[in-house]
Amino acid sequence: MMAIENLQRIVPPLTEWFRAFARELPWRSDPLPYYVWISEIMLQQTRVEAVKPYYRRFIEALPDVRALADCPEEKLFKLWEGLGYYSRARNLKRAAQEMVRSFGGEIPGDYEALLSLPGIGSYTAGAIASIAFHIPVSAVDGNVLRVASRLTGSEECIDEPRVKRFWEERLTCLIRDSGTDSGLFNQAMMEVGALVCLPGGRPACGACPLAACCRAFRDGTWERIPVRRKKKARRIEERTVLLVRDAVSTLLHKREDRGLLAGLWELPNLEGSLNEGQVMEYCQKLGLKAVQIHPLPEAKHIFTHVEWHMRGFLLLVEDMQEARQSGQLEENRFLAAGTELIGERYPIPSAFRPYMDFLGLRIGSEAPALNPPAAEIIPEGRQSLSGEYRENRG
Ligand code: SF4
Repeated sequence: MMAIENLQRIVPPLTEWFRAFARELPWRSDPLPYYVWISEIMLQQTRVEAVKPYYRRFIEALPDVRALADCPEEKLFKLWEGLGYYSRARNLKRAAQEMVRSFGGEIPGDYEALLSLPGIGSYTAGAIASIAFHIPVSAVDGNVLRVASRLTGSEECIDEPRVKRFWEERLTCLIRDSGTDSGLFNQAMMEVGALVCLPGGRPACGACPLAACCRAFRDGTWERIPVRRKKKARRIEERTVLLVRDAVSTLLHKREDRGLLAGLWELPNLEGSLNEGQVMEYCQKLGLKAVQIHPLPEAKHIFTHVEWHMRGFLLLVEDMQEARQSGQLEENRFLAAGTELIGERYPIPSAFRPYMDFLGLRIGSEAPALNPPAAEIIPEGRQSLSGEYRENRG
């Protein structure tokens, strides 16, 4: 493995390259602590291009720590809708509340204090501390681990916490000994990992500022480095998703407060791949009278550990008012709302995107709906619905 004193050699070419080739990103132009924090949390598990529109909308709606601390959960989730991993949003709010309570509504400029906040681990604490406060500390994420392992030819498994700790300490020493700006160094390492030293495929070593001192490049070992733990196969769950509509509204269900997608709104869905008869029976139990039923296309959604294989039905029911008045829907955490209101207020996870498309609704800041609105799959005779569907499209 490359000795620590040799690692010092990477600093000048790395930082020069970053100054010349760094991407212009909305959170980079003005690296206030709040902006760095929000962007780093959004960027966990999400691509830069996907984050950009979310970031802009979020900062506009919640421009500082106090606004975030006071934000009602439903509004927060609506801003997060489509980004996934909603515990990140929940932790943002909890951390903001803690900042109001203990740090005068400011983000603390102290690595240990940052680490004590909900949702902030060593990487995020390092990123905020270095980029916003120039504290000499490393920020080691998957990109940095990949670059560091290849540079030094390390075949240690990067999923091991002790390996991550090793690199955090080692790169912190490097930052301190070299006297380089920590924010610049950390961002440069991340940028090389994001743009040049790519995962899953051949890294662009020819364009890499570190090629001259890279062990994996010299030995041709980039393909087997970094070493990763074998991932467990995902559990497959079959689900039947229901788009239940009367003339003016669509039925939504609030998920349990714990577990997958906790507390979010969803299209009603049932375990298993059910047939029309079973679906009609279920509706009846809710006090809803189905008038028509139409199959919708199958869809798949991948979570970290589970994969949903979904089939769907559009159910046209008689006025939901009666079931609403009887309290039967509310008791079971259901709600009937118009398309416009759903779009404005209720956060729906992107697992339901293929079926929300039939309402002409986009989820979060994602691309426009591609499926035809539900009106187009409703046969003649029910065309009174079409005006509403079309009005709310896109
Ligand atoms: S030379 Fe290649 S393998 Fe080495 S750090 Fe650069 S891109 Fe990665």
